[in-house]
Amino acid sequence: MITRRRLIQDLGYFAAAGHLAGKASVASLGPQSTPPSQSDVVRLDSNENPLGPPPSAIKAMVDGMSATARYHFDEFGKFREAIAQSEGLRPEQVLFGVGSTEVIDAAVSAFASSKPLITATATYDILIELERRLGRQVVQVPLTESWGYPVRKLVEEAVKAGGGLIYLCNPNNPTSSLTPKGDIEWLVANLPPHSVLLVDEAYIHFAQPSEVESTLKYVREDKDVIVTRTFSKIYGMAGARAGFGCARPDLLRAMEPFMDNVIPVLALRGAMAALGDRDSLVPTRRAEFGRISGELCEWLHQKNIRYIEPHANFLMIDIGREVRPFGQEMLRRGVAVGRPFPPLNHMLRVTLGTDQEMKKFREVFWQVYTG
Ligand code: PLP
Repeated sequence: MITRRRLIQDLGYFAAAGHLAGKASVASLGPQSTPPSQSDVVRLDSNENPLGPPPSAIKAMVDGMSATARYHFDEFGKFREAIAQSEGLRPEQVLFGVGSTEVIDAAVSAFASSKPLITATATYDILIELERRLGRQVVQVPLTESWGYPVRKLVEEAVKAGGGLIYLCNPNNPTSSLTPKGDIEWLVANLPPHSVLLVDEAYIHFAQPSEVESTLKYVREDKDVIVTRTFSKIYGMAGARAGFGCARPDLLRAMEPFMDNVIPVLALRGAMAALGDRDSLVPTRRAEFGRISGELCEWLHQKNIRYIEPHANFLMIDIGREVRPFGQEMLRRGVAVGRPFPPLNHMLRVTLGTDQEMKKFREVFWQVYTG
């Protein structure tokens, strides 16, 4: 069994590894190169949202500073109710966490111990790393030609293994692609016995509602489905650390032993305020990122550079060469982009930034691409 302490150690390990990797890439620039200072770097590497938290959330967090003396267990029920109400669920179908990472890790611990974690490649890999470091089995199948999850293959693997935790990220990170609604519907209808489907909807708010359908409807229908959401992406609150999972109460109960069941009071208050702004914030921000994304796609199109059609606040560009040295050169010139995502080693993941940041991105990208 994995303990909460162990999970924190794991996350600390990943953070440290990321830090060292960042340092190493800067250190390898050569003696004559002066890397830009951290504050000058345009950060398009971690799928954060440059718009940041809405003003209401900032106010709630600033006003709440003195409340950090206590855990504020008394506010947890209200938070759970607010989330449930916003998603059309009952409070007992909701579990909040320190970012959605905590909820995802708890699902891995609860449902992928004696059975494998089954997913596609390439996808969000923090849970794959966790499963591997615990010495457990991960089964990965390639994404389809249109970058969706190959649902029939996922089911075949689950049948072979006698069940397992199937992880599907929609829109997918790092490809920013969607799995068609009909495929997800088929997957839910054909889940083999002893299988649970975990759908990570961290980026769902960025996708056009006409193109995507939340899997929360299957939670409402009491299926073997867990859906995770986060305040880190559209709400711009990655550093606050608030996320949640939705599922049938018995599934959540199986995950609870692997959760702290406490989140920072500032994260809770900020997230509550952000949730209150949801109806105006989500469509406004979705439209803004849609515009920025459209402009970048148009520019790439004009330059004859291929990319995967994006459905989130990041996109994958086919640079036709190894990503790592390309990214290091961009960083030397002041723009941080995504690391390699094997096996897509020639695809550069770029997070959408502000207009000014994207202008700098285009300049630096073009210099390095043509250099
Ligand atoms: N899921 C996906 C697909 C992500 O890309 C991320 C973070 O980048 C997360 C989950 C974790 O987000 P958080 O723990 O900040 O909610």
